[in-house]
Amino acid sequence: MCLIVVFVDVDYFFAQVEEILNPSLRGKPVVVCVFSGRTADSGAVATANYEARRLGVKAGIPIVRAKEIAPSAVFLPMRKGVYEEYSKKVMVILRTVSPRVEVASIDEAYIDISSAVPSFEEGIKLAMKLKERIKEETGLNVTVGVSVNKVFAKVAAESVKPNGFRAIGPDQVEGLIRELDIKEVPGVGPVLTSKLESLGIRKLIDIRSTDVSHVSAAIGRAKAYYLLQLANNTYSVPVEERQKKSVARVLTLKTNSRNLDEMRRAVRKALEDAYGKAEGLPTRIGVMAIMEDLDMISRERSLSHGVPMDVATSICMEMIEEILRKDNRRVRRIGVRLSRFVKSKGLDQFLDLK
Ligand SMILES: [Mg+2]
Repeated sequence: MCLIVVFVDVDYFFAQVEEILNPSLRGKPVVVCVFSGRTADSGAVATANYEARRLGVKAGIPIVRAKEIAPSAVFLPMRKGVYEEYSKKVMVILRTVSPRVEVASIDEAYIDISSAVPSFEEGIKLAMKLKERIKEETGLNVTVGVSVNKVFAKVAAESVKPNGFRAIGPDQVEGLIRELDIKEVPGVGPVLTSKLESLGIRKLIDIRSTDVSHVSAAIGRAKAYYLLQLANNTYSVPVEERQKKSVARVLTLKTNSRNLDEMRRAVRKALEDAYGKAEGLPTRIGVMAIMEDLDMISRERSLSHGVPMDVATSICMEMIEEILRKDNRRVRRIGVRLSRFVKSKGLDQFLDLK
């Protein structure tokens, strides 16, 4: 049996959460902004609801520009913690359906439900129920795509946003490959599109009749094979839990200081938080010291194996002492950054290091 992959994408996520928490916003253009704090309106738009999009506001544009084109819109500051709570609620619901959930971003996830249902038809029913449950339990409208791999599930969802549902079953995949414009394929941006069009490739299906070495030469081997597998319907990259690339935590000292004990306490606390969020042990550890004049100095060290928190504390303090030896300013904030995680299956061997 083929894979059955469900892609769930929350519609205009941040702005929708704001609408749920304050229903009087419904029907009005709502723009959620990341204010940089430098001047009153400096920063960028994070999410706009569809009313604001119709006026021309979109993610990424400067707030100043958004206020010019949509002066009547409601502009709100981003509330990261609130959105994270909603995201978590959605992901918890998804995990009740299948343990194979790949969180692609704060508002998008893939779920492999192949083992949860006996047929693609049953998969469609399950995905529909999932959409209803998310609405009931969180109030959020989501768009859902179902297909035989992650990419086609995403394509299905993209074509029916917002609050949409579309399934592209095994019998319909050949039709999709024939009709899908190359620029609609996830991962194919404007630059790649124009390179492919110069080879005469406009539809995904055109990849089949083009010499793969020509495509490789134009866009690189990895992208060429990605498209070839999609065009031949042999793409089968599994739904997999994504690892966080890095975890960072910064703390402000009570007063600007050069006191090592105080810094050790801050480092310890920052590491406790960072280790709490990490999946596995870091093989790369960084510190940053933000000095009293807000200048930042950082140091990083790579290790041959993953290290537990006590070892990380010593390493961080060595790097901080090194910074202070060469610098006579006081420190205002201390940060730690963990990255390149290894799974902690070999945990026992590291206990000796303690
Ligand atoms: Mg979304």
